[in-house]
Amino acid sequence: MSRVVQKFGGSSLADLACMRRAAQLVAQRWHEGWQVVVVVSAMGGRTDDLLALASEASKAHAPASAETDALLATGEQESAALMTLCLHHIGLKARSYTGWQIPVETCGAHGNARVQQIATANVLATLQEKAIAVCTGFQGTTSNGERITTLGRGGSDTSAVLLAAALEAERCEIFTDVEGVYTTDPRIVTTARKIATIDYEEMLEMAALGARVLETRAASAAMRFRVPLLIRSTFSESPGTSVSATDKTMEQRSVTALAYSDKDAKIALVGLDNTPGIAAKVFAQLALNNISVDMIVQGTTQDEKKAHITFTVAKTDLENACVALEEIRTDAPFQELRCDDKVIKISLIGAGMNSYAGVASRMFRTLADKGINIQIIATSEIKISVLIAADYLELAVRSLHAVFELQKETSSPLSSPLSSPLSSPLSSPPSSPPSLSKSTAR
Ligand code: ADP
Ligand code: ASP
Ligand code: MG
Repeated sequence: MSRVVQKFGGSSLADLACMRRAAQLVAQRWHEGWQVVVVVSAMGGRTDDLLALASEASKAHAPASAETDALLATGEQESAALMTLCLHHIGLKARSYTGWQIPVETCGAHGNARVQQIATANVLATLQEKAIAVCTGFQGTTSNGERITTLGRGGSDTSAVLLAAALEAERCEIFTDVEGVYTTDPRIVTTARKIATIDYEEMLEMAALGARVLETRAASAAMRFRVPLLIRSTFSESPGTSVSATDKTMEQRSVTALAYSDKDAKIALVGLDNTPGIAAKVFAQLALNNISVDMIVQGTTQDEKKAHITFTVAKTDLENACVALEEIRTDAPFQELRCDDKVIKISLIGAGMNSYAGVASRMFRTLADKGINIQIIATSEIKISVLIAADYLELAVRSLHAVFELQKETSSPLSSPLSSPLSSPLSSPPSSPPSLSKSTAR
């Protein structure tokens, strides 16, 4: 019997009317003869409300702690129970599971736990009883089962994909509030085009660069375990976007999509000594404090005596990064430390990008024509990212989307491909995916 995991995000579970709609989609698959496992997020806005309560209770920014996790997990528990009641109402047999009842074993920090193992026996027993298993996303337990953990914001996508992998489901359907993956955020560019099929690499890059429609760890897990995904809307019949190992398009475009992220902040260290080892000291101190750095640019004064290093960190790490850098000021002296959290990163993504000349120049020209200053540039084989002032977000996204003709099914070429589009230099996922499931129940 075919097995499917269906995940519903917060906006798809905003109220009971939405839940009833979601329950109908579950019923549809069930009546088609599938074994169905449902994964739910908290109802829309609930996690934010719970976080605000935690901050109020602790009179500080909500600490990432066991108690905050215990509180946040109630959001998903609430929607799992309500969804199960909605399924009962339409005559389906179903039961809910919390993260610790499945159980989903995690390790790592509270608020950012990593899934280690998922025991499948309990959920499988429910499926064998011809019932639907409704599982909470976003949560698990510590390895000794003593404490509740959460996976980080947007983590229900990851729960769903990993459950699909552990249960060897045929596919994982991600239901959300848009009809699939678009060439860019359809809320910013109304002409954004829905992408029918996309491969794991591009999806992962889009997610990592800010396309919220799928969480980055979920995209990475789907690629690693080769879980076919279908991203679609809870509120329409549209077929959605299929994410799999092979994009059906024969010839890759230079640019497939455009993503943006407002989660970064910029730090500039001005007037460092231009001597060997300075950059190493700066970034070692950040690493010591568990702060990841993304884009980096270094320059020197005309006489080459002083160096400037500008880089980005997550906005949530900005304060800690500044404190950490002040701590090494005597060892790695600098004249000034400048911070800016009103920046956004805009990225062009395309697996075929490295076969075409002129993508970067066209991007930079478009921004220049709009008077937008580029602060940092970063590139990889399949993306070009620029950091710009946050005020220009919409102008930049709309202009670039139009210039690269992403609204069209096929774009006019920049110049001829430099090499065969079929000889992609990107590495393929492993031929046999690793195993995650543990078949013993606890
Ligand atoms: P959910 O509550 O279902 O998890 P999210 O809010 O996390 O939904 O993700 C869906 C949102 O992602 C959409 O409403 C859309 O604004 C945003 N988004 C950003 N980039 C894209 C993109 N390229 N394609 C589709 N949606 C996108
Ligand atoms: N409820 C959690 C959040 O809002 C997890 C999720 O929705 O995926 O981040
Ligand atoms: Mg989401």
